Amino acid sequence: MRKQVILLPGDGVGREIMEGAKAVLNTIAGEYNHEFIVHEHAIGGDAIDRYDTPLPEQTVKACENADAILLGAVGGPKWDGMPAGKRPEKGLLGIRKSLGLFANLRPVQGFGPLVHASPLKTELVDGCDILIVRELTGGLYFGKPSGRSADGEEVVDTLRYTRKEIERIVEKGFEAAQMRSGKLTSVDKANVLESSRMWREVVEEKAKDYPDVTVEHQLVDSAAMKLITNPKQFDVIVTENLFGDILSDEASVLTGSLGMLPSASLRTDGVGLYEPVHGSAPDIAGEGVVNPLGMILSTAMMLKYSFGMEEEAAEIERAVKECLEDGYHTRDLDVQGGKVVGTDEMIKRIVENLSTKSISNAICSSYM
Ligand code: NAD
Repeated sequence: MRKQVILLPGDGVGREIMEGAKAVLNTIAGEYNHEFIVHEHAIGGDAIDRYDTPLPEQTVKACENADAILLGAVGGPKWDGMPAGKRPEKGLLGIRKSLGLFANLRPVQGFGPLVHASPLKTELVDGCDILIVRELTGGLYFGKPSGRSADGEEVVDTLRYTRKEIERIVEKGFEAAQMRSGKLTSVDKANVLESSRMWREVVEEKAKDYPDVTVEHQLVDSAAMKLITNPKQFDVIVTENLFGDILSDEASVLTGSLGMLPSASLRTDGVGLYEPVHGSAPDIAGEGVVNPLGMILSTAMMLKYSFGMEEEAAEIERAVKECLEDGYHTRDLDVQGGKVVGTDEMIKRIVENLSTKSISNAICSSYM
């Protein structure tokens, strides 16, 4: 397969973790005979410094013509004093908006050697594997009217969705459930909100198109509680923007390792932007200690969700898991009895793990 990928390293540790994405793509290309045509562009503070805007036109154009985009992170103290329109995060919000990326996917997985670092008891999180599918471009964050009355004594925010907006995100939820264990939990507040009642209607209608997926509905308050008391009951959760924002941050602490978490922002045709959940970590930028695994797992998500390369994605996940099981980790992770390595060494270990598989495949096939 031949695919165009745009790299947006951004700021802080962005460039260091992007080296991990490049190394993994190179290895997968060689192993599976794919061609990834890769171009790098500026975004965030880096783009402000070079082009006086957080989202240059050439970056938008390149992303519009790409099959997928990998993003490091944006922001840092250097640009904190910038006026609102010229802040690094404007670049990220702008690219998501201009590409119409309405579905945010955030997986949370308990990796064996790390589960003891969770704030929850090990038996609650060991084996936990959840995917939150959050609507990203509608709902309370974008509804009009929104603002404050002239006397400053009244405020309004509007929760607005069209049926079409709900349908397309619910479809993403069902598709994701089909690719995993076939269980979908739809989260709403249908006992109070009209938007949630329409949401529930749409989920029921769409369920007929996915007979292999089992659906359950949960109210958001109850779902928030169960994420902490029994997270393993969930597989795919689909929900609207505000609920998804809160639940995905709640879920992200379950595994106790921010540097490990990947994410995807997608639209219907499969084009997507993939990035780790963490920020630009300016406190450790340039030290060679940043954990590249969130970026590497985001690259695996790109292969799976934008390119349909499920086997290749699973290979990367396996290489990451095996590396941690072998005890290798960056210093942000707490692996008992493990060996702390720097970013470059961690990337090298993952690549070696991937290549080991390719060698053993070659040996297997020569005996078949
Ligand atoms: P952060 O995620 O950058 O860092 C929080 C803490 O976690 C820091 O101590 C950092 O060193 C550590 N950390 C984060 N990722 C790590 C990794 N991969 N390996 C090892 N340690 C890691 O959050 P913050 O400090 O609140 O924000 C820093 C900057 O990043 C801000 O400018 C913020 O606006 C921006 N930010 C960007 C994004 C994004 O680009 N999507 C997301 C969140 C924050």
